[in-house]
Amino acid sequence: MKTACRRCLADLEVEIEQLIQALFAEEENADDPAVYVIPPRATQLDLSEAVREELILAVPDYSLCREDCRGICPRCGTDLNTGTCGCQPESDPRWTQLERLKAASTDQEVD
Ligand SMILES: [Zn+2]
Ligand SMILES: [Zn+2]
Repeated sequence: MKTACRRCLADLEVEIEQLIQALFAEEENADDPAVYVIPPRATQLDLSEAVREELILAVPDYSLCREDCRGICPRCGTDLNTGTCGCQPESDPRWTQLERLKAASTDQEVD
């Protein structure tokens, strides 16, 4: 299945091996939501919807191109697997207030 690396967005092909069990029944027996309804007078079963739904569940939602993918820089967009950029690592905005407090109290101590 084609997908993209969650960190660097590179194209990826993920191999998926999945046993699919799908139950098909005629409409009057289909009170179970897991049952796929067979259309009246159908002579063929279309498995594509069942297969697609099961496959979506089987796709790992955190695919990486490799275990140690470094991703892209959130500031300049450089692919950090192929090079480095001059950006400082982004500090967590949740700490900004604390850092300000810390800076302020340090100033007071100096005074
Ligand atoms: Zn990657
Ligand atoms: Zn950067």
